[in-house]
Amino acid sequence: MFACEHCCTKMNKMIHTRDLIKRYKTDNYSTDALININIDINKEEFVAVAGPAGSGKTTLFNILGLMVKPDSGEVWFLDKKTSNLWDKELTNLRKGKISYIFRHFNLIDELTVYQNIELPLIYLKYKKKERKEALSQILKKLKIEHKKEMFPNQLTGLQQQITCIARAVVTKPSLILADDPAGNLNSEGGREILELLTDVNEDGHTVVLFTSSAAEAEKARRVIQLFDGHVVTDAKKDNFII
Ligand code: ADP
Ligand code: MG
Repeated sequence: MFACEHCCTKMNKMIHTRDLIKRYKTDNYSTDALININIDINKEEFVAVAGPAGSGKTTLFNILGLMVKPDSGEVWFLDKKTSNLWDKELTNLRKGKISYIFRHFNLIDELTVYQNIELPLIYLKYKKKERKEALSQILKKLKIEHKKEMFPNQLTGLQQQITCIARAVVTKPSLILADDPAGNLNSEGGREILELLTDVNEDGHTVVLFTSSAAEAEKARRVIQLFDGHVVTDAKKDNFII
């Protein structure tokens, strides 16, 4: 009943948007941040949304992440129409299904690496034993076991962002959105984060990476180019070799 009536092959669709518009209004002027955005993202895709500063990436990140509503247009997430949902319903829809990675690592300073990664599992009411198992797996997989008792301010930026990736994937979400996750790292650190996101995608998670770096966008299988709020190109790499 809530699925898109027109176009999507429903079973395989993660995100489907139609004619998204978002405008920021201040006293003196308004900015068209997104103009008629039509995007379809399938399950298990690794998509980069690329564009210079001000092109609308963070606005789109917030809207696809169901944190902000567009002024008009529609977002379907896993075939569910979202414009008519209340905040609480949106929270429930996001819960455990969408994870976010930000440029400014946003770990909780007072919690250890272990506790930071455990937090979403507590929120989702995992039992203690399940949390322990999930943590043990993810710490091993991301090679940060030896950092688990440390606090964020004892870590490098790269280690903090790896912890954020661990926290994002530990709940096994359907969709991972990353807004400029390497923006605070040097090129070496950035490469490592991109490799991790590629691994995460290969494990079956849908990944959407928002970036102003062409080199980072290159790592994705599909690049949607934004400019001044418009999608200017949307290209898939057929012969993609990692
Ligand atoms: P990007 O992430 O690509 O840098 P943004 O989505 O942050 O792009 O911004 C898109 C446009 O919207 C820019 O022109 C920006 O200045 C404007 N903008 C973003 N957030 C706000 C806001 N809260 N109020 C007013 N203008 C905004
Ligand atoms: Mg941004």
